[in-house]
Amino acid sequence: MVYMEKDGYVVVHGCRKCNKCDTICPEGALCRVDGVVRIDYDTCTRCGRCIEICPNKALIYLE
Ligand code: SF4
Ligand code: SF4
Repeated sequence: MVYMEKDGYVVVHGCRKCNKCDTICPEGALCRVDGVVRIDYDTCTRCGRCIEICPNKALIYLE
């Protein structure tokens, strides 16, 4: 599964719901829709911490 938000900065796929990204995000920009991680791009500062901590590489840069 691939979820791409309006500006396409980060794709989320293969989420195993470990909650590590939720814990590390300093902005509270990660939320769940039907149990799967989604990113609020209006809140996200593109710090990249969630991408680095995800053990399943479910969050990736598009550029
Ligand atoms: S760290 Fe990765 S696998 Fe874990 S909840 Fe976040 S996106 Fe899903
Ligand atoms: S890039 Fe940073 S601000 Fe954006 S969702 Fe990930 S941890 Fe949160």
